[in-house]
Amino acid sequence: MKPITIKHVNLISVALPLVERLGTSFGKEPFKTAVLVELETETGVIGWGEAAPHTQPGYSYETMGTVLHVLNEFLIPCVIGKTINSPTEIPPLLKGVRGHPLSKFAVEAAVWDAVAKTNEMSLADLFAAHLPEGHAPRGYATVGVSIGIQPTVEETLQIITKRLNEGYGRIKLKIKPGWDVELARGVRAVYPDITMMLDANSAYTLADVDLLKQLDDFDLLMIEQPLGYNDIYEHSKLQPQLTTPICLDESIHSANDLRLALELGACKILNLKPARVGGYTESLEIYKLCVQHDLPLWIGGLLETGVGRSANLAFASLPGVNLPSDISATSRYYDPDLTEPSFVLAGSSTITVPTEPGIGVEVRRDRIETAVQYWHDQYPYTYPPVGDVSLAQ
Ligand code: MG
Repeated sequence: MKPITIKHVNLISVALPLVERLGTSFGKEPFKTAVLVELETETGVIGWGEAAPHTQPGYSYETMGTVLHVLNEFLIPCVIGKTINSPTEIPPLLKGVRGHPLSKFAVEAAVWDAVAKTNEMSLADLFAAHLPEGHAPRGYATVGVSIGIQPTVEETLQIITKRLNEGYGRIKLKIKPGWDVELARGVRAVYPDITMMLDANSAYTLADVDLLKQLDDFDLLMIEQPLGYNDIYEHSKLQPQLTTPICLDESIHSANDLRLALELGACKILNLKPARVGGYTESLEIYKLCVQHDLPLWIGGLLETGVGRSANLAFASLPGVNLPSDISATSRYYDPDLTEPSFVLAGSSTITVPTEPGIGVEVRRDRIETAVQYWHDQYPYTYPPVGDVSLAQ
């Protein structure tokens, strides 16, 4: 493997209008925000990464402001000038900074892309090169679609019908207290056989166990993260009381978290978001643990632009990712996206992984310029805050 030497890193704040806003138990994001990491090597190869924070701390404690601050002040100085043989050398360089997984992920992802391009390999092949034999990528990812909280069951059904007609083979519905059992019953009355799952985004507590047990009647593929966003223990108390498999998402930040969840019996499925665990190196450790324990695995998303989504798509093409991933066609998210070509849904609810080196898609600089302008128009604050930030008015 040819090494890379990191010469320069450029951070680009962008925002994009969403084709369809996703309502969750958290509310609705008004538009997509991201910090793109453009990394240049000594030989002129460009690697791309994406941090996908919101403007406010909520789903994640990281924000557009903290990501810029932590990358600029702390993380990028740890990698500038370094010669890297494998992207798995990045986490040890960043270990002096605790937390901030979205920021670390963005740097590491840019290095994965640059190393893959330097070695003229696809990202999927580079991931597989870091796994034991027998994990060659499939060339496609099996995917599903996530549907946000709608005003009525009827409106939800209209969207489900549209998505089924587009070819999606797995439907995920966001739920929250007051929008759960009746929703599942209403959908099952019309679609008794579709592959369906629910995602609570931590909206319930153990006191809701009787309500959550009612969801066992609806033949769900899984219920995702019903309890606390950082909880493993209470999920281990809930799982034995449900026949529906619990899938953990928010509360798994590392392979060690997953070991604990497995030990306690807190989940039967894992949603792995590479950004949530701080990068693909940790993701590969989690992948190996899932394979070892026969734990069904799929890849989640943070509504990434084509920069982040293409890398997740490559990871989702690994054979140990054996349930449909939350990676939809480009038209579900952005029009246009920052990258070309668009991802389109192929047969059997799949998306084909590009075979070009690295992330395999072209990053369109004209569209980045537009997205930088949109960010400035939508959120006209300077990060990190400069000058007088006194609230005395
Ligand atoms: Mg989730």
